[in-house]
Amino acid sequence: MKMRYNNRMKGKIIAVVGGGAGGMLCAHALAEGGENTVFLIERGARAGRKLSATGNGQGNITNLHMDAGHYFSDDRDKVARILREFSPADLLSYLENLGGLFESDERGRVYPCGRQASAVTDLLRFALERAGVRLLLGHTVCSLAGEGDGYRLGFAEGGDLHADVVVLATGGKAAKNFGTDGTGYALARSLGHTLTPLFPALVQLKTETAPVRGLKGVRVHCLVTAFDGDKALHHARGDVIFTDYGVSGNAVFLLSSYLTDAAAPRLTLDFLPDRGEEELALFLERKEGLCPRENLLGCILPGALGRAVIRRAGEHGGFTARRAAALVKGYPLIVTGTLGFDGAQVTRGGIPLSETDGGLQSLRAKNVYFCGEILNVDGECGGYNLHWAFSSAMHAARDILRR
Ligand SMILES: Cc1cc2nc3c(=O)[nH]c(=O)nc-3n(C[C@H](O)[C@H](O)[C@H](O)COP(=O)(O)OP(=O)(O)OC[C@H]3O[C@@H](n4cnc5c(N)ncnc54)[C@H](O)[C@@H]3O)c2cc1C
Repeated sequence: MKMRYNNRMKGKIIAVVGGGAGGMLCAHALAEGGENTVFLIERGARAGRKLSATGNGQGNITNLHMDAGHYFSDDRDKVARILREFSPADLLSYLENLGGLFESDERGRVYPCGRQASAVTDLLRFALERAGVRLLLGHTVCSLAGEGDGYRLGFAEGGDLHADVVVLATGGKAAKNFGTDGTGYALARSLGHTLTPLFPALVQLKTETAPVRGLKGVRVHCLVTAFDGDKALHHARGDVIFTDYGVSGNAVFLLSSYLTDAAAPRLTLDFLPDRGEEELALFLERKEGLCPRENLLGCILPGALGRAVIRRAGEHGGFTARRAAALVKGYPLIVTGTLGFDGAQVTRGGIPLSETDGGLQSLRAKNVYFCGEILNVDGECGGYNLHWAFSSAMHAARDILRR
């Protein structure tokens, strides 16, 4: 049956495709800001499913230390302009007006005080309802074609909708269990857009298995440096969790973003970043007479990791306390891959910003806008990706309302 949606409309018909973080905020700002008919079209049974899962369910929605240096994109200047126009303070005041209350931690990461991401989704859900946004759940947009001065959106489930303005807020390809399988890219391509190469980012890393054998589940707080061959790319202090395929944890997620196109990716883990290698070597040499060798790193590393380091220190040319100290200060891991888009939190690449104008309107198709992860912008861990989704959504909404 052909569904009919275009009845009792006022003003312009605006279709926001994708009921994620960006789409929800964009639809709300559009409905609040003008006399238009706003549709929010979401393929899933609920809007904001991914938003509700962010930050391990706690919802790290932005970061007080905001600047474009935390982002990867083909146009960081444009990212910087957009971030300035809708800063963390602006976002928080927007959400506080909807009834939210937020707090930040020592790294500037902002969470709802109740540490429940779904509470932020609820704020936006209730706000959409109050603002009269027409929510089409269980509708997958599978085609988008020009029709008169506007566009016709076709639904995979049957039926279609005419809109004067379309916002593509369909996210990227990461974590497709939340509805983000990259279909938005196909819609953009059908309008003449190109894509920069896509990579999984903020993702678990696969490594050579020998150095992680027997360590599954061990978690350490350490300083990790990412290299491409001999070139140090970036370092991060945080958690590393060993797995059967390699490593996970927040430090690994962050550094994975710097390794997406490395030819010879590797990591070194400094398990004792506040002590020098020489100091540690002398300490271990003294300790050697006090306990069996396999306990030498007791009190320094978790037991299984300590034993793995001792084993590795004895591999070539025999064990010395100095070799053990060197491994504690720089445990090498060759990176062999990632867990792919299914394990990733975000997509590197997308619609280049250079194919949009200053208001994030398409330069290929008038009255089509983009916001969020579908664009070639991704951020580090720490609230930067949600902030981009929200700020680019507000930017697009303001441009639509201004015209
Ligand atoms: C597990 C996890 C944890 C994360 N934690 C954080 C965090 O703590 N802080 C942070 O800043 N970022 C985090 N991120 C990243 C962040 O969630 C995303 O970058 C952000 O949600 C992107 O927002 P978006 O609006 O562009 O797209 P999304 O939020 O991905 O929403 C896109 C929506 O579009 C819908 N859709 C797609 N195609 C169609 C179609 N053809 N028709 C209709 N609907 C469609 C999808 O179902 C989806 O609901 C996390 C990501 C994951 C996976």
